Amino acid sequence: MARPRVYKTEAVVLKRTNLGEADSIITLYTPNLGKIRAVAKGVRRPKSKLGGHLDLITRSAHLLAQGQNLDIITQSQSIESFLPLKSDLVRIGCAMYIAELLDQFTAEHVENYPVYRLLSDDLLWLCEARDPDLVLRHFEIQLLSHLGYQPELYHCLECRAPIAPQRNMFSPSSGGILCPNCAGVEPAARPISVDALKVMRFLLSNDHTSAKRLRMKSGLSHEVEQLIRLYIRYLLEREIKSLEFLDHIR
Ligand SMILES: [Zn+2]
Repeated sequence: MARPRVYKTEAVVLKRTNLGEADSIITLYTPNLGKIRAVAKGVRRPKSKLGGHLDLITRSAHLLAQGQNLDIITQSQSIESFLPLKSDLVRIGCAMYIAELLDQFTAEHVENYPVYRLLSDDLLWLCEARDPDLVLRHFEIQLLSHLGYQPELYHCLECRAPIAPQRNMFSPSSGGILCPNCAGVEPAARPISVDALKVMRFLLSNDHTSAKRLRMKSGLSHEVEQLIRLYIRYLLEREIKSLEFLDHIR
């Protein structure tokens, strides 16, 4: 369908790339247009009216005009600046990771409203979360699920037997659990504890309002993080750059 010449959309800023002297290319995640990239002219000038409304990790209402190549952002008004994130190094690191992960996993112009909701909800949760890592695990596993990469956590990927509460294996390349009998088929599979499996199931089936209640000890949190990281690295075939920053500040 042809885009209108001028259109309005709400969006969260995922990325900013400098263009020329004072312009930027802004990567936006929108409710109904998916991910879009657009030019913000003069945004890097101190007196630009677009200014803070296009800061990284800000939710704003935008007016865009169709451009020859990329569309042009002509007006922006911020709705939610997620301010608590921006005064805390760990939280901003987490938010940058969320933005980069979403950018890496999505193509432009593919609408996915549940992903937009997840992004907005989890960024708000991140502002006040006692355990920022829990927000990241929730975002990762829910994002994977919404994009069609939901890990299989209930049946063995090889023999389809229901997974029993014992030491099973997690296979990044198959995307889920292998029972002990089938563990040999996938040499890259890693052991997964009963508790880590429970956490992953819980995060997969609960939104942020329920997921908030989960408490994880650091050992368990680390195990879940490592397993999901392996799966994400397998799917993307590259590292997430902001993870390095996040690991460093932690
Ligand atoms: Zn099996």
